Amino acid sequence: MVKSFIEARNIILNHASPLESESVDLARLVRRVLGKAVCAPVDLPRWDNSEMDGFAVQAADCQLLAQLKVTDYIPAGATADGVKVEPGTAVRIMTGAPVPTGCDAIVPIENTDGGRTTVTLHQAVQRGDFIRFRGSDIAKGEILLPAGKVLRPADINLLAAFSLTAAQVIRRPTVAILSTGDELVAPGEPLGAGKIVDSNAYSLAAAVSEIGAIPQILGIAQDDRESLRKKISAGLKADLFITSAGVSAGDRDLVREILEQSGVHQLFWKVAIKPGGPTAFGLNGDKPVFSVPGNPVSSMIAFEELIRPALLTMMGHKEVFRPQVTARVKGDLRNETNKTRFLRVKVKKTADGLVAESAGDQNTGILSTMIRANGIAILPADQTEIAAGEQVDIQLLNGVDQ
Ligand code: AMP
Ligand code: MG
Repeated sequence: MVKSFIEARNIILNHASPLESESVDLARLVRRVLGKAVCAPVDLPRWDNSEMDGFAVQAADCQLLAQLKVTDYIPAGATADGVKVEPGTAVRIMTGAPVPTGCDAIVPIENTDGGRTTVTLHQAVQRGDFIRFRGSDIAKGEILLPAGKVLRPADINLLAAFSLTAAQVIRRPTVAILSTGDELVAPGEPLGAGKIVDSNAYSLAAAVSEIGAIPQILGIAQDDRESLRKKISAGLKADLFITSAGVSAGDRDLVREILEQSGVHQLFWKVAIKPGGPTAFGLNGDKPVFSVPGNPVSSMIAFEELIRPALLTMMGHKEVFRPQVTARVKGDLRNETNKTRFLRVKVKKTADGLVAESAGDQNTGILSTMIRANGIAILPADQTEIAAGEQVDIQLLNGVDQ
């Protein structure tokens, strides 16, 4: 039975779950997904400290033009042990240095005459001025980094500020990619008559590494059982396996046959989508196995719509779909099938909102339309057209043109 797009995607997502966590060093954490919440092990700042280069004082002494005796100096990195601000005195202090006993305000150097032995104040002072109080940023025990958070540079600053050297993040899945077909040769190899360059392996690998998973290009299997068996058994070692070509109606169907003989339990073959309709999905134990059609545009759309959300789920992401927007259609968009139709479109920002138009010939054999597109318009199976001026749902591939 051919699955609808949503049925197919739900079956896939029901069989995708986050991999286990691993410990990863600070320097390699960006964009990784936290496997375990991180609680603040200490207050931040750890102690009351000065926000400015200036003078630690008692605010009550600090009427305008007050003169205070400078009794000590606390540079950054020093302790304030044994240092005390007595009434009528000031302690010279640098930004970040701990605030000494008796001090209840800091006077920035630019609000004084900068005196070394006595200092004259040019502004009135309030209690608490320019002190960064212990725990005022983050209190010990607070959870700022919940499980599932995708780590950004600021998060990594926080982990480092806690003096952690590593964090537990979800393991990156390995994704084996197998191209199949007697007609294929690797890029750069001599092209005999009737041969076609294996370009799918590289776009799939790029799409896999773009989201932070680990592609493993297995090369090309010929359309014969022995060649397929060997390569498929290598591919089944990865966390997720993608084969391209050899699953369309006209093919001898060897890919699905050998996958099945190799222990892959097929959950569906064929989805009511265009492009990407002949896609098959199965499980090797609990590992997802996808067979996408060989046509480059079809393989890329099948990855986008069916594989990418599964892979992101395995990586622990909660946001597994592309950001979606609605845009006004310029020129009609047609769905000549009774399937969910993915149309490659160009989306632009205009004074009256987002406008989308076809990025060119929508024939699945046309790669250049995919290159020009920055979005995919989704026409439901029961909608034959969206007329100019009407709204359409669009998945954004890479932002919106200005
Ligand atoms: P198939 O899915 O086997 O019917 O292939 C459909 C079309 O995609 C054919 O024109 C193939 O030559 C082409 N094709 C198959 N595999 C690849 C590949 N790895 N890279 C580029 N084109 C391919
Ligand atoms: Mg083929």
